[in-house]
Amino acid sequence: MIRGLLEDLWLLFGRMFPLPTTPGLREVGRPDRSSPVLVTCNFSLTVRKVIRTLERDGIDAWLVVAPTRGINVWCAAGGGHFTTDTVVSILETSAVAERVDHRRLILPQLAATGINIWSLKERTGWKPRFGPLRIDDLASYLERDKPLTTPAERRVHFPLQDRLVMGTNLAFASLVFFVLPIAVASIWLSGFWWRSILLIFLLAVLGSLLVFRLPGKPGLQKGLSLGAIVVTVFVVVAQVWWEMSSSSTIAWGGWILFLTAYLGYDLPSWSPLWRADVKELLFGKRHTQIEITQDRCTGCHLCDVVCPVDVFERNGETGKYFVAHLDACQACGACVENCPADAIVTNFSSGVCSCPTCTVIKGVGALEARPPAAAAPITDAAPPTCGCGSCSGDPS
Ligand code: SF4
Ligand code: SF4
Repeated sequence: MIRGLLEDLWLLFGRMFPLPTTPGLREVGRPDRSSPVLVTCNFSLTVRKVIRTLERDGIDAWLVVAPTRGINVWCAAGGGHFTTDTVVSILETSAVAERVDHRRLILPQLAATGINIWSLKERTGWKPRFGPLRIDDLASYLERDKPLTTPAERRVHFPLQDRLVMGTNLAFASLVFFVLPIAVASIWLSGFWWRSILLIFLLAVLGSLLVFRLPGKPGLQKGLSLGAIVVTVFVVVAQVWWEMSSSSTIAWGGWILFLTAYLGYDLPSWSPLWRADVKELLFGKRHTQIEITQDRCTGCHLCDVVCPVDVFERNGETGKYFVAHLDACQACGACVENCPADAIVTNFSSGVCSCPTCTVIKGVGALEARPPAAAAPITDAAPPTCGCGSCSGDPS
């Protein structure tokens, strides 16, 4: 019970850090030989949420928990820890094939950044498909005859509640980073310790809540916008009500600006296939370029199925897909990884996850370069497709 409580607390404040649970096969409910087979990461929070949701919705299923170093689905896929190899290996070691009569495999959509379903099918004989982005949508997805997610089930959202949770986690991660310098400074500065901790939590939560409304581009610009607003309020309050000395006001104002700049750098998060550098930090979101070579596109729809931000649209006349909303692209690489015709051209850097949290936790090996996203080799023959775009092309 105490362990569960500690784990809950850790997941509330420390979910930006890995928290592994044992990989392997879990039975949820009373699955039989026709029950669905789902795959997920071995981040403890995710596994618990998936099991809880399946139980709530009365779904009996086989849950294959892949060894992703305790990292969540999207980050693990982007960091090279939730890949085709990972799934091939856990399918073998979990022996799930002996428990079912079918070979349908449902993968989390956000794993598409790291998993190539064409290659997975070829290597295992399973028929993988990408399921809904949120586990809450699994019940309605399973009820449909066609193994295809709806646009609403594919779209990533970042609602207020999630931003609030991210803010507390960002604050905790920042504290880990700053704890030593703050402790040392507190030897000379009375009250610096608790005021700084309070400030970090306040700024991180405020920044997460206001992230879409702050002026400037994601990164340093939004961070400094937040800093300018908070410092203005602080100076007025410090001078008018607290009667703080000018030197203290300037020192605290500078500290606030520094913290918001740091948090701003961390806030937008970094795309799995984009190495953030000083230019991106200063001038904001990378300039993503992505296009579809129309001659190659077969209209299989898979890029649309894996894209979490609706970048693609279908040309009603040709049936091929094109880039309709370039600005929305997060450079996650899922479409590039899974396009069976090698039709998608990008300017993404090749595969290093540059999230600053992983930079701190070098132990998880998130900075190891993963191979560039690899689509299937180009051949003259059109790739197999059943047209639903969600399965691996096998009409059965
Ligand atoms: S995945 Fe590739 S081939 Fe299929 S629709 Fe998209 S661009 Fe065309
Ligand atoms: S278009 Fe951009 S966001 Fe959408 S799947 Fe491709 S890389 Fe990811």
